Amino acid sequence: MGYEITHWIDGRPEAGSTGSTQPIMNPATGGEVGTLHLGDESTVDRAVQVAAAAQKEWARVSLAKRTQILYRLRQLMIENTDEIAAAITREHGKTLADAKGEIARGLETLEFATSITQDLKGGFSQNISTGVDGHTLRQPLGVVAGITPFNFPAMVPFWMHPIAIATGNAFLLKPSERDPSASNIVARLYQEAGLPDGVFQVVHGGKSVVDALCEHDAVAAVSFVGSTPIAKHVHATASAAGKRVQALGGANNHAVVMPDANIEFAAGQIAAGAFGSAGERCMAVPVAVTVGDVHEEFLAAIKAEAEKLVVGPGEDDGTDMPPVITPEARERVIRMTDEAEQAGATIVVDGRDLVVPGHENGNFVGPIVITDLDRTHPTYTDEVFGPVLVVMHVNNFDEALDLVNSSPFGNGTAIFTDSGHYARRYQDEVTVGMIGVNVPIPTPVGYYSFGGWKDSLFGEHHAHGPEGVSFYTRQKAVTTRWPSQNETVESSMSFPTHD
Ligand code: NAD
Repeated sequence: MGYEITHWIDGRPEAGSTGSTQPIMNPATGGEVGTLHLGDESTVDRAVQVAAAAQKEWARVSLAKRTQILYRLRQLMIENTDEIAAAITREHGKTLADAKGEIARGLETLEFATSITQDLKGGFSQNISTGVDGHTLRQPLGVVAGITPFNFPAMVPFWMHPIAIATGNAFLLKPSERDPSASNIVARLYQEAGLPDGVFQVVHGGKSVVDALCEHDAVAAVSFVGSTPIAKHVHATASAAGKRVQALGGANNHAVVMPDANIEFAAGQIAAGAFGSAGERCMAVPVAVTVGDVHEEFLAAIKAEAEKLVVGPGEDDGTDMPPVITPEARERVIRMTDEAEQAGATIVVDGRDLVVPGHENGNFVGPIVITDLDRTHPTYTDEVFGPVLVVMHVNNFDEALDLVNSSPFGNGTAIFTDSGHYARRYQDEVTVGMIGVNVPIPTPVGYYSFGGWKDSLFGEHHAHGPEGVSFYTRQKAVTTRWPSQNETVESSMSFPTHD
């Protein structure tokens, strides 16, 4: 029922031959809105063959022409933002403003990729030895794949494909099955922008498609963003198959609230980090760490913030917090809160029983704030990925640092303080990749790179920005000598020393 989403191969929608489909659901209503066609190894193989042929031609296209296509895509993305945002809200559930925000953040990477003329400049040194010059250049890898999560169906793919394509690769996207429409709209817009068919393709599916991409001989590199167990699997599988891999995993980001912080400000910022997009952001703030005597004051302030949030469908203007993605995600939030309560925790704000009138079958749960939880309890240690804030209490800065650094995840973190001394120590000593000082969701802009430490990233490269250019290209170093016809250059059996 509803609409159908097929693969996008060789410049056309294509249903594929598997006959396998799954429903696309609206999280706000619990109703089915469309049907997604799922691929398998044969779909991947067909798309890779098309990509390999297209990439050979694409790599010869001038940097100027590539840039012009990216500029046109940017304009088309802006003109079609309402259509893409509506599709994201319908399938993901997030508010329209949030959907537009992720499109805008995705465009930052596209804008960065339009300066590829600068980023692909190599180095040149004249006379590295007498009459000998040296230069470097960066070349595309070939066919590269991106496997992306449900929570940012536009932005996270945009972390990858504009740079991969600008640097001369063909890109194969395997988006999340839960909200697939945005990727097909982007494929259509790339075509309208003048990108040759086969350079950007979309294959839908689950594990079999992911594994086929990780193992296919003609795929040179895999970019993955998703949960830690799948990130580990993709990193191991694609690395074993000899590919370059960057696999970004899950998170459990902590915000430290120092005794000298402005508590009202910190609570407002942390509430936005914890409950925005129902906590389904990899840079969400599911843990606040109160230091010293601010615990009770912070609890009162965060309770006030959480209780004023309007929970409802993403389409509604007044909605602050949308539904979570699936009924299973909702049940997990409730179960993990139940387990914390059974272990003796205090539930400061309890959104477990929330019902949104008129949306009784939607995946809604209200904001939840938990405290007095042991640091070994899974509701604190694991990624809940829902609108749950656990407030931990410690006595001083060193205990806070120890708590944050004991997490196996290291994606993002924040410190709220008026003290430059502690802010500086925190940046220096915390084992986390992205740090905010009085900023709750410190997501780097598109011209820097995004990436966590520890179980939040497997591989050597962070996503987008300069590290994206490095990931999607490899360097050649060329040494050149042009002796004249009658010049005698003596060869030597000993190792050259560049005199
Ligand atoms: P997920 O790991 O379930 O899915 C990610 C991708 O992997 C999807 O395309 C999915 O189809 C595929 N996949 C799922 N199960 C698989 C399997 N068994 N084998 C092979 N492939 C499989 O993640 P999700 O639920 O879509 O997204 C939420 C997760 O992503 C959270 O853990 C969140 O923290 C993480 N995330 C991390 C970042 C980051 O930058 N580090 C950004 C966004 C989301």
